[in-house]
Parts: sequence; C-alpha cells; structure tokens
Amino acid sequence: MDDDVTVTARLEELLARLTLEEKVLLLTGRDFWTTWPLESIGLRRMLVSDGPSGVRGEVWDERSPSLNLPSATALSSSWDLGVARRYGAASAVEARRKGVDVVLGPTINLHRSPLGGRHFEAFSEDPLLTAELAAAYVDGVQENGVGATPKHYIANDYETERFTASTEVSERALRELYLAAFEKAVVESRAWLVMSSYNRINGVTATENDLLETPLNDEWGFDGVVVSDWTAVRSLESAKASQDLVMPGPDGSWGDALVTAVREGDVPEEAVDRKVLRLLRLAARVGALDGFAPVASEPLDVEDGVAFAREAAAAGSVLLTNVDGTLPLAKENLHRVAVIGHNARNARTQGGGSATVLPERVVSPLDGIRAALPGAEVTWSLGAVVQEGIAELPLAETLNPATGEPGTLVRFLDEAGEELFREDRLSTQLVYFGGEAPVASARTLELSTRWTPTASGEVLVGFAAIGVGQIVVDGRVEHEEEAKPTGVPDLGAALLSPPSVVTPIDVEAGRAVDLAVRFDLSTSDSAKAGILGISMGVEADASNPDALIEEAVAAAAAADVAVVVVGTNSRVESEGFDRADLDLPGRQDDLVRAVVRANPNTVVVVNAGSPVLLPWRDDVRAVLVGYFGGQEFGSALADVLLGDVEPGGRLPTTWPATLADVPVLDVTPIDGVLRYDEGIHIGYRAWLRSGTRPAFEFGHGLGYTTWLVDSLEAPGSVAAGSDLLLRVSVTNTGERKGKQVVQAYLSRPDSVVDRPVRWLAAFGVVTVGAGATETVTLRIAPRAFAHWADGWQTEPGAYEVHVGTSVTSTPLGATVTVEG
Ligand code: BGC
Repeated sequence: MDDDVTVTARLEELLARLTLEEKVLLLTGRDFWTTWPLESIGLRRMLVSDGPSGVRGEVWDERSPSLNLPSATALSSSWDLGVARRYGAASAVEARRKGVDVVLGPTINLHRSPLGGRHFEAFSEDPLLTAELAAAYVDGVQENGVGATPKHYIANDYETERFTASTEVSERALRELYLAAFEKAVVESRAWLVMSSYNRINGVTATENDLLETPLNDEWGFDGVVVSDWTAVRSLESAKASQDLVMPGPDGSWGDALVTAVREGDVPEEAVDRKVLRLLRLAARVGALDGFAPVASEPLDVEDGVAFAREAAAAGSVLLTNVDGTLPLAKENLHRVAVIGHNARNARTQGGGSATVLPERVVSPLDGIRAALPGAEVTWSLGAVVQEGIAELPLAETLNPATGEPGTLVRFLDEAGEELFREDRLSTQLVYFGGEAPVASARTLELSTRWTPTASGEVLVGFAAIGVGQIVVDGRVEHEEEAKPTGVPDLGAALLSPPSVVTPIDVEAGRAVDLAVRFDLSTSDSAKAGILGISMGVEADASNPDALIEEAVAAAAAADVAVVVVGTNSRVESEGFDRADLDLPGRQDDLVRAVVRANPNTVVVVNAGSPVLLPWRDDVRAVLVGYFGGQEFGSALADVLLGDVEPGGRLPTTWPATLADVPVLDVTPIDGVLRYDEGIHIGYRAWLRSGTRPAFEFGHGLGYTTWLVDSLEAPGSVAAGSDLLLRVSVTNTGERKGKQVVQAYLSRPDSVVDRPVRWLAAFGVVTVGAGATETVTLRIAPRAFAHWADGWQTEPGAYEVHVGTSVTSTPLGATVTVEG
C-alpha cells in the first residue's frame, strides 16, 4: 500500500466528488453480504462473510463448499501463535477463493461463564491468551489481503436477550478483561474492521455507545470500519456515534433519514464524511478501489488447507487424563476396536449459528479410526441418542429422481402447483438466505429424493423447519403437521436448528423409498422475508435407551479397547441461546459407566466446543477433548489416539467438576440487565479466589512424554514501563519428542488494590526432543503489572512470578520488584 498520507489525500479527493446521497448510500449494505459499488469513483462492491472458523462465502449452499477449520476453542487450546496465524491465513485463502473481501471474525468475547452459548466460537476465559491469539489471527488474515473483523464489541459474552440486554460492567473490568483483546488486535495488528455488538453496555446500545470512540478510535488509533452486527443498528442516533457501516442492507435506520438529518443540521456532514473515508480506506486495502494498490493482490501464505485443518485439530486436542500411559494405543495390539457414540458417526465439527460453513466432506471419528486401522475389526454402536430432531440423509444413500445422480431435487411451486424454480442439491439440509430461489413468492417448497436405507426396521422420517409440511412416502402423504418453534424465537436458531416433525415408516436395507417433503411456505414468517432453514431426514430412535446401552456394552466387552465419543448437539451449543447446564445430553453418562464396567480399557473422546461435566472421569483410562474438530476431526483423532501425533492442547478455560462449583453462572438478564458483578474475577481467577478445585485447571493438558521444569532466571527488579524477560529451562525426561506450553503468572499479595489471586502474564510453546533441555524466553509486557483506575496505573514494589505448566502447577517462582 502506498504511503498513508498520500492515500488519505487521494481518498479525500474521491470523497469530495460524492453527493450527500451517494455518501449515505455507501454507509448501509446493498444486501445481506455486500456493500454498494460506485462506478463513478471506481469502487466495486465488497463482499463480507462469516467466519470465523472457515469462510462460507456469498451463498449458503453445499455446492460451493468451504474448508471447515476446528472451533476457536480448539485453536486457543494450542496456545500456539504460529497455528493462529496460519489459521487466519487459511481463512484468507478461502476468502480469496470465494471472492470474499472481509472475514467476519475472530470472535474475541471472553469465556466469562461456561454457559455462554457462543463459547465454542471464542478463545478463552483469559484476556492475555485471547489477545495474543486474536492478534496472530488478524495478522494471518490481513497479510493475505483480506480484512479481519474482531467481534463483538463489547461485553457480548452471553446470548440470552442478546439484542436488547444491557451489560452492567465496571470500567476496570472492561479495560482489563473485555477490551484487552480488541486493543491488541487494533493497536498491534491494525485490524481493518471491528464489529459492534447487539447488546447495550451500561444502558447504551453498542452501536450508539461512546466506547466506539473511546478507547477504540482516539486512544488506539483505529482507522478502519466499525461494522454493525447484523441488524444491530436500530436508530439514527447511531449515525452520530462512531458507528460506520450498517449491515445488512439495503433498508435500515440511516438512508433517507440520515440525508434529511444532515440537511437539517442534526448530524454534521463531517460525521458522514469520516465514515465514508474509512469505508474507502477499507476498499483500497482489499483492492476494491481503482488506482489503489491492495495490501496483497494474491494470498501470500498458501498451504494445503485440508492438511492444516488436520494438524490444527490435533494441536488443539487436550488430553485431560491418561492412566498408565494408555494413550497412545499400540496399533499392533488392536485387533478389535469398539467405537461407540452418536457423535462418533455424526460428529459435530463446528458449533451452530452464523459461524456455520458447509464442508465438502467430514471425516467422522469412526471414519478416521477405520481408515487408520485397516487390519482391525472396528465396530460401531450408537450407545445413546445425542442429536435432537432429524439428521440429514447421507448423500451416498440418496438419488435425485430427476437426474438419477446422488442428491435431492428441490422445486418451488406457485398456488396452482406450477413450477417456478428448481435446483439439484447435494444435501437434504438447506438454508435459504439470499440467492435466487423464490422463497418469498412461491407457495410450496418440495424436496424429493430416492432414499436407500442401509438398515432395516422402523425409522422416523420427516422434516425440520418452522411451519406446516407434508411427509410423502412412495407418493402417499403419510403425515401433515405444523412444526412450532421451541423456546425464545431467534432467527439463527430458527434457521439452523429448527424443530422437527416425523412419522414412523418401515424400511428394508437396500430397498429404495421415494421420500418427499412438501412445505407450505405461506405458514412460515421467515419465508415471507425470503429466509428459510429446512431439512428432510431421519430422527434417531430413542425409545429404548437401555437396549442401545446394552448393545454398546456387548461390543465393548468383545473388544481390545472401547473408544466412546461423547458430545453435545445443536440444541445445546449454538448461537442464539445460552446453555442451561453443562451435562452431556441424553444417557451418555450412563453409557460411559456401563461401557467401562464391561471393558476397563475405555478411552473417552469429548466432542464438545465448551466445558461439559465428566462425572466418570476418574473411572476411565483416558479422556481426550477433541472439541468441534473441523472437517478433518476423525483423521486428527486417529493420529492422536494412535500416537502419530501428540495431543498438543492445554485448556484455555477451566473445566468444572459440578455446575454448582462454577463461580460465574449468571447469563440471564433481570429486567433487561445483566450485571458483571464479579468484576475482574472470571475464570481461573474466580476459581482460585473461591478455593474450590475444578475438575481440570486452566492451562492443564498432557502430552505423550514427561517433563521437568528445571530452572527460572528472573532479574530482581524491572523499571516500570520495561519488559521483564524470564528464562525458563525445561527438560523432556521421556522417550519421545514433545510439546510443552510454559506459562508465567503474576501475583501481588500485598496489593493496595483488588487483584486476581494470580493472572497469566506470558506463555511460550516449546518443542523438545527426548532427553533434551531447551530454554524458553518469556516476555512479560509492562501492561501485565498494570491495573486500571482512571487510566493505567502500575503499583511499584514486589510481584511474585509463578512459572509452570498450568495455573496451579507452578513449581518455579521468583520475586521481582517493579521500580517506582
Ligand atoms: C452474528 C455475527 C455474524 C452476523 C452475520 C450475527 O447474528 O452475531 O457474529 O457475523 O450475524 O452472520
């Protein structure tokens, strides 16, 4: 990019050529995902897309698939800034491939409470870890010429009443916790956008809030675009604030009303100019403005995305327990493996909501283990039903009746039954959100396929959507019913996990059934606005849970090892709602207990994006958290279970033993207000303060070797405002190469201000060969000693440094005096 001053001057010239109407037009989106082009100044449209764990692109359509990376919680578990940067780069490469200029991520709200519905999408309960990862992610995206959008600004760490609730939060907690990652992403990585959130902060809607100006602009020097979360701008008032771009468009609160307000002197034209200039600067950066050199005309860091997704999933897997070195499993001893669990076959590779992407393929744990053990007999048992509602039909079991190819025929019909539009799809799970299909004008939507089941018996077939539909089997209407929304209406939930209606039918393995769903679009409110989520498929039969457990027990008893994959479903972890508890859904706890009784050699894999309770954790041989492992989840899991790769993760968030122990549980606003009364004490800080021991500590995770954290060198004092450098030696005392995450915490026992018991101040990843010793240098920045009290203050005097491999496993210490 050319010199900043010249660029600004040239952008100002372009701005001067625009009429007020043109300027205002640019400040609201053209549609759901694009901004307005303006030929007269050589501006093309800009396309934005979710993010943050892959890039969906302009359409929500499996025929245009995307790389599905592991969830943010898996990324943060790697504690590896190199992985975070590559993750950002992989997103940028995907973005470029799909013509996307801006990725709507990373999500850098904090894990204030494990009940937060979008926990899987955010990094950590710790602000420093979140900030470091956020900056590396943003660098990885933007170095490759695509804009990154740290979101959601700010204090948007829960989902209940998310459009309206006011977060009551102290200035200190905002500065020390919630703003910290945004600060780093803006000040150090120069993020090109920031997304303002839906909620209010201390009574004022985010899109109208002064926090958009201070600290974002005036203190941190942000020169990018504040884009609203989708529909978060609800007033003209927000045009007076440092809110720049309204999404989606083309309607909204600004438009003509803003033109009039400027003409009448209610909103100064300079405010509009400032916003437009920022938008033009973004356009120049991404290469959407003629005559300006983009930051990168091609992506620079291109690597094999699929291989990276597999590597990242293993790097983010956390081995919580491993009795007597059960893992890795020795391949040569495995003749019969019992893979058990609903999620073992129908893995969740990503959380629900706007972050959803449609991968070309998914390697389930069962697929991955089978592929890695070609000589062994690998059985699968359902064990317990986890998924609620219907699952889509596997593509390999469907034939499009019109083409004879795998897939489904979709037709939109008018009142008279005349066809208005048709398409051949490769999935029976469809989301219409933009695009050409006449969702708003048609009367009926018909999905039809020839389905060949692989098992015989009674199955529950049906549809999921909000509205009235018919289930048609071999040309006969078997059932008609209205699927009604459950819980509080939320567009995200309505689109991505709508309620199901099913009917039982008898099927025979290998015998094809003509299956169709006819959905009455006039019964769906969202369809009238052109938006619809609808699927056709089969619901798992949960009517005899004991029989499912017995079947799994028999398989486990006959196997050398049982691998039970437990996990959550889309009704538990998604955008749009918070969790009510941390239990594994269904009978999964009973299942694990029964399996372990039948075969003590049982390993449990957790397929969840956030902490879940594992009441049987001390009774099984090993517990491995695989999170939502992305599309290559199963391959990565096999790599880790069989020891081709070490599980590289350390917990970025505390995992509780019981729900009642969790220090911050409150995610439900009262009278529209959610109070962050715990102030700066969230996550491990709060656990340490309460004295209650969690199931697994922040920073905990095992690898496949053993370690000694040998020595710490620290200076006795440091000048205020200078970096403190620590040198830590670690020895790999085991027999294979391994990764360790060395963590340094601070404490200040005699502080005159309220402080966390201890707080993370620096960390470093080191890979060490068997028997070798390495020295890691950890840099503690001056901010780590500071607290906020009407400005950043540093208390001079003694601080304790604690160094080790989790927040409570800190064998080494030193006292360092910060000079006044
Ligand atoms: C989410 C954002 C997302 C946007 C666009 C909103 O509901 O909160 O994270 O980027 O939708 O899909």
